[in-house]
Amino acid sequence: MPRFVAVLLSGVFLNTTSYAQDERPEDTEVWDPEPRIVSPGAQGQPPSDAIVLFDGSDLSEWEHLDGSDARWQVEDGVMTVVGGTGDIRTKQSFGDVQLHIEWRSPTTIEGDGQGRGNSGVFLQGRYEVQVLDSWENRTYGNGQAASIYKQRMPLVNAMRPPGEWQTYDIVFLAPRFDDDGGLAEPGYLTVLHNGVLVQNHAELQGLTVYIGAPYYEAHAPRQPLHLQDHGNPVSFRNIWVRDLAAD
Ligand code: MG
Repeated sequence: MPRFVAVLLSGVFLNTTSYAQDERPEDTEVWDPEPRIVSPGAQGQPPSDAIVLFDGSDLSEWEHLDGSDARWQVEDGVMTVVGGTGDIRTKQSFGDVQLHIEWRSPTTIEGDGQGRGNSGVFLQGRYEVQVLDSWENRTYGNGQAASIYKQRMPLVNAMRPPGEWQTYDIVFLAPRFDDDGGLAEPGYLTVLHNGVLVQNHAELQGLTVYIGAPYYEAHAPRQPLHLQDHGNPVSFRNIWVRDLAAD
């Protein structure tokens, strides 16, 4: 008998001995419920059940933190931070989400460290996944692009050069709080930067504060998403979320 056939047969033999005689393969098949159908959308387009937050046309889904109309620039299907206008937030609020967002730091390199292409994606307005031009631009690791700011550096630096579009695909599990305001379950973040895993179910330590240790502060389960005005003309496009509470 050829060796590879012997190996195959031994595999079959091992498998057949791993379950009892009265067990059937269909006993472990799940037919109900059936996963609902989502069309994934053409390349670069949101899936059919996504909530589109920016499709290139306007900022109708966004406002400043004081509730005034968002004054960031929209041109050629792209929104760009206008320094000094302030952060913007979504008008809708979210809990657990899958978020897709594309961003671009300016082609003309200005500043260095934290001053170069700085913005931020703040899940629930509190938990920042850093946006920064980290292409050949050293800063503290837990403050570079795709870090959970001041908590976790990215597993790797997956930056494209300034002027090129970058993607973040984020799975955010929101923290849960008890009725008395105590932390019941921390938040978790998984992040792919340009398709590369950079945060792997990383546990959030609390607010991503600039100074001092992170800490949790109780809040309602659904909150808006914020984008940061850090004074640099960082651009964004193709922003959508999927509400994970639906599944
Ligand atoms: Mg930032």
